[in-house]
Amino acid sequence: MRATRAIIHLENLKKNIRAIKALTGEKPKLCIPVKADAYGHGAVPCARAAIAAGADVLAVATVDEGRELRQNGIDAPLLLFSLCTQEEMEALIFFHIIPFVFDSEYIHLVAEAARAQGAKAYPVHLAVDTGMGRIGCYPDEAASLAKEIAQSGALSLGGVCTHFAVSDSTAKTDRLFTQVQFSRFTDAIEAIKAEGIDPGICHCANSAATLISPEMYLDMVRPGIIVYGYNAGDLTEEYLASQGIEISLEPVMTLESEVSAVRSIKRGSSVGYGRTWTAELDTEIAVLPIGYGDGVLRSWSSGGVSVAINGKAYPIRGRICMDQCMVELGKNSGVRRGDKAVFFGYGSDGALQTAEEIASRTDTISYEITTCLSKRVPRVYVE
Ligand SMILES: *Cc1c(COP(=O)(O)O)cnc(C)c1O
Repeated sequence: MRATRAIIHLENLKKNIRAIKALTGEKPKLCIPVKADAYGHGAVPCARAAIAAGADVLAVATVDEGRELRQNGIDAPLLLFSLCTQEEMEALIFFHIIPFVFDSEYIHLVAEAARAQGAKAYPVHLAVDTGMGRIGCYPDEAASLAKEIAQSGALSLGGVCTHFAVSDSTAKTDRLFTQVQFSRFTDAIEAIKAEGIDPGICHCANSAATLISPEMYLDMVRPGIIVYGYNAGDLTEEYLASQGIEISLEPVMTLESEVSAVRSIKRGSSVGYGRTWTAELDTEIAVLPIGYGDGVLRSWSSGGVSVAINGKAYPIRGRICMDQCMVELGKNSGVRRGDKAVFFGYGSDGALQTAEEIASRTDTISYEITTCLSKRVPRVYVE
């Protein structure tokens, strides 16, 4: 196996899920998103671990992601968080993936696909746009669309959902906006009930709302990022503790490589493309076989990201290349070929930072760091 790999600590994923369940109690169902290959961690092993830890439902973003789970024997209820094409609907129904729907045309297409496979009450969830501006009907359209679903002859209303735009912010205006979204959502649910239609499973809580808004649990919660061990936006463990919420999350992924060479660099010599870094003194650099082709983005060098080797942090020097990058060791570091170099991860693997810390230095979010690790990086699963 190549030196660059992502270690996936499934025991941490399970621990995080159990911690979430301890917080929510047994009442709300637990839906775990394994979209985008489980935020880059690997959908099938994470799905299995999530179910073992008590997940009731899983969620994907594409029909192909759902197919992969089904073909690997995962039979838990599956939600599709994004829209699919008409062409994908046959597989959608065949693999029993429950779609979000929100307009008459799409409802009609799903109903046709369901009818073609003999379904009489294929479940769909009605998505309501309460302020995210992405998918969903407007709250005042919910009741009539629920009626269309109920009367389609092929579909049934399995649930109603919405998604929050700023629930992971501690700013007062954002907290108010989340409250507004929630009350628009409950209004839509009431309007559906007033038509005599059972709304099914009502759900809206992402990671942030799962942590701080028990009144928003309703029938099911959908925490994603916290399952993988990162904070939901501003809601750090310290912030949560200040609100009386005790939860400890462990990062699931460690990204590591190995020193493939140690080089002496003379004072005044440059390192890498564009000659953006020049040694001011005689020094040594380690070459690591990992680059932006693996998901270690070029912005990490300008962001001043360091790499841990033998428990010490060494800065990335020069531009990150597609397949390699260089870190400065200085003199007499004792670092040798084959030594482990840890970019981010879980403390017991020797990591000195998490993906979230790299994210904040490079103007992005933990989600993007783990999701953008490329296919070329083998995922190594440890229980
Ligand atoms: C991705 C996603 C989630 C999970 O969001 P986190 O911020 O990772 O908790 C929940 N609901 C929907 C609809 C999503 O797309």
